[in-house]
Amino acid sequence: MMDTEDHPIDDGFAEPVPSDPSAFEADGFIDTADEEHIRREKAKAREMRHSQWWKNECGRGVCYYCKRRFPPKELTMDHIVPIIRGGFTRKGNVVPCCKECNNKKKYMLPIEWQEYMDSLK
Ligand SMILES: [Zn+2]
Repeated sequence: MMDTEDHPIDDGFAEPVPSDPSAFEADGFIDTADEEHIRREKAKAREMRHSQWWKNECGRGVCYYCKRRFPPKELTMDHIVPIIRGGFTRKGNVVPCCKECNNKKKYMLPIEWQEYMDSLK
């Protein structure tokens, strides 16, 4: 069968942008999130930093990745699945992380990061 529709008619309707968060739930891991997702999850992260839950997490003073101990104020918030990759700001995806791990994670490819994590075990 041949596809002859190489010039579909533009009816003036814009591409629908998913505004429902559940649109991302099905897969949970996408190449690049849209701007709306990034904006919303970053806003949630800002709120979460003030939450009692987050203060308790940091209060334990342990980096999620390297398990070393740090003063709570030296721990930063990290998304296990980055927002840019479709990750959400919620318990289970947000963890306290030391600056060193945060920096390493930022500049590593996921596969390199996995190797780093394995080396800590
Ligand atoms: Zn660490």
